[in-house]
Amino acid sequence: MRLSFDEFAALTGLRRSLLVAIPHPDDETLGCGGVLSLAAERGIKVKPILITDGGASHPGSQEWPRRRVAAQRRDEFLEALDVLGITSDPTFLDLPDAATGALGAGAIARAIEALLEAFRTESPEVVLTTWRREPHGDHRFAFELVRNAMSLADCRATLAEYMVWTPITGSAADQPAPEETSSVFVDVSTTLATKRTALRCHASQLGELIGDDPQGFCLTESHIASMVGPYERFEIAR
Ligand SMILES: [Zn+2]
Repeated sequence: MRLSFDEFAALTGLRRSLLVAIPHPDDETLGCGGVLSLAAERGIKVKPILITDGGASHPGSQEWPRRRVAAQRRDEFLEALDVLGITSDPTFLDLPDAATGALGAGAIARAIEALLEAFRTESPEVVLTTWRREPHGDHRFAFELVRNAMSLADCRATLAEYMVWTPITGSAADQPAPEETSSVFVDVSTTLATKRTALRCHASQLGELIGDDPQGFCLTESHIASMVGPYERFEIAR
């Protein structure tokens, strides 16, 4: 189903408050930056929750130890939010990038509590999180965390799942089954320049900043071409 932003808002009940869970800095732009930008433009409050610290993208770098990468990526994230027009302060859960699968019960409980607090404060009509079977473990973790917190909070918001890596590196089994969700494609064509500008804020992920880890993560032009297009895709559970 192809929808304009306003049709998407009508379908999901979005009127004044949207909460978005973001596994790593850059996922906000790549996965749903157009919808976030259009929501902000219409005066809808957008509350970002950043799940991990993003510190694991260049594990082989001597010049950029994990803590320095995480600090850099937090700054890049804040710049990107600014470009997207998001004015609410984000909540940083600061969980360890690429290690959410090994978290203890205490850390998960604290993360859930932070989400519950955000649900209480924001009363969102719509919650965005990454698709449940994204190839990256932190992206699947974000979905599970959000789903559990919504259930505990008895939150009635519409949950819409956005994809980052599934169309590029996902297996056939990672894709949504026809009876599982409705696929909604939202027209974000008017935001493409904004999305590209927001993406440029994530210099550490574009191979421009950290030069001593050739194995480090790098978003290629081909990734960007696949991810930044006129439509953003959301899966809404039936
Ligand atoms: Zn990510």
